Amino acid sequence: EAYRNASKHVAVIAFPFGTHAAPLLDLVRQLSEACPDAVFSFLSTQQSNSSTFQKKLNRVKPFNVWDGLPEGYRFRGNPHEPVQYFLKAVPKNFTEVLEEVVAETGKPVDCLITDAIYAFGADIADELNVPWVALWTAGPRALFVHAETDFIRQNVSNNGPQDKPLDFLPDFSGIGVADLPGGITSGDFNSAMPALLHKMGPALSRAAAIAANSYEDLDNTVVNMLKSEFNMYLNIGPFNLESVSGAAVDDSHSCLDWLSKHEQASVVYISFGRVITPPPHELQALCEALEESESPFLWSFRGNPEKQLPPGFLERTGSKGKIVPWAPQQKILEHPSVGVFVSHGGWNSVLESIVGGVPMILRPFFGDQGLNTRTVEAVWGFGLGLEGGTLTKEGAMKALKVTLRSEEGKKMRDRIGVQRELAYNAVKPNGSSVENFKTLVKVVGNRLTL
Ligand code: UDP
Repeated sequence: EAYRNASKHVAVIAFPFGTHAAPLLDLVRQLSEACPDAVFSFLSTQQSNSSTFQKKLNRVKPFNVWDGLPEGYRFRGNPHEPVQYFLKAVPKNFTEVLEEVVAETGKPVDCLITDAIYAFGADIADELNVPWVALWTAGPRALFVHAETDFIRQNVSNNGPQDKPLDFLPDFSGIGVADLPGGITSGDFNSAMPALLHKMGPALSRAAAIAANSYEDLDNTVVNMLKSEFNMYLNIGPFNLESVSGAAVDDSHSCLDWLSKHEQASVVYISFGRVITPPPHELQALCEALEESESPFLWSFRGNPEKQLPPGFLERTGSKGKIVPWAPQQKILEHPSVGVFVSHGGWNSVLESIVGGVPMILRPFFGDQGLNTRTVEAVWGFGLGLEGGTLTKEGAMKALKVTLRSEEGKKMRDRIGVQRELAYNAVKPNGSSVENFKTLVKVVGNRLTL
């Protein structure tokens, strides 16, 4: 029905891991409201679709593609393993389903939208002879270092000193080689993910537009470099501020009520994203720091807290802390009681902290998290990494003290408050993200006259 009435068919190809598909669906939802004559086919794995589509959408239809897993595969805790299998199945798993959708609906594709990490999006779009729109779901710096991989490799010797600053790149003097995502100067360049990301830069120069979940004023120098490198680089975020019909807030564990019982800027909110649980000794260190610092805390915990946290911790901290399996993070970060966010530095978490105006303590694990951490600390100055890069009791206590109870902590709060204001300005009527979104709508609807 939706297909019969539509005059345009937009195909969407998602990356089903971490927090990639959710912002892509957020974008598609916004586009579907702006393009009432279009129908959107959203392709991802069954697992990803069932967690991302929380309710039925009228003109956005989910389609499941093969996840690439061998029969009888059992997940044993390494988050990279399913990704490696999946990358062996792309792009064929997507193109097969896309052909079926077109055959069944009789609607050829008019525009292709993919996660920007899919360099093969350029080829699929060429074959279909339609414009390719790529969504970059991480920060501008991460896209920049992937696009500049060859140049960085020329300037940094493979497995050379890790503390070398990247001062041969504009505005990168505070960032070191060690902060780069794996696969740029270290690790196996030929394994699937680094190889895909290496191809991304050249592929993206064939995109009709690159949309990014950020705003113009955040990391301006880097954004300007990306704009001069690519056809149309459009910051249209933060999505969490713009999403019109956003998913209902799931507060089944009453986190917001609990927060309201606490003093202003006093609570430590902890979450390491959808994928990561820190190793046991770091969990132990964080627990000890929380107990000793006596701060109230709210923890969104992946896993089983009874089994994975130190014996007695839950009983001893019952009156101070609340541990839940899932939390309405954006709403929490906007709550005045939250004083600091202990995070893995995922891009969505960084943006949500900005929107909430909450300083961060960062323990990065993989991908862009190290780069985000150092940028937050050394470039933007609204958060702290940890001494030695991992959670120790002393390091965590010190970071809590600085962020919650020091002059420097106040300055961090002021700095993130400035960003918060800029982010809000970007999504006001006539704000830069709103204007950029209008341009994107024209690209998607093939209505752009250059
Ligand atoms: N999130 C949430 N509740 C939780 C844990 C996470 O809503 O209890 C959301 C969070 O708001 C963010 C996303 O999950 O939008 C995490 O994204 P991020 O990019 O920070 O990390 P990733 O999950 O990709 O590692």
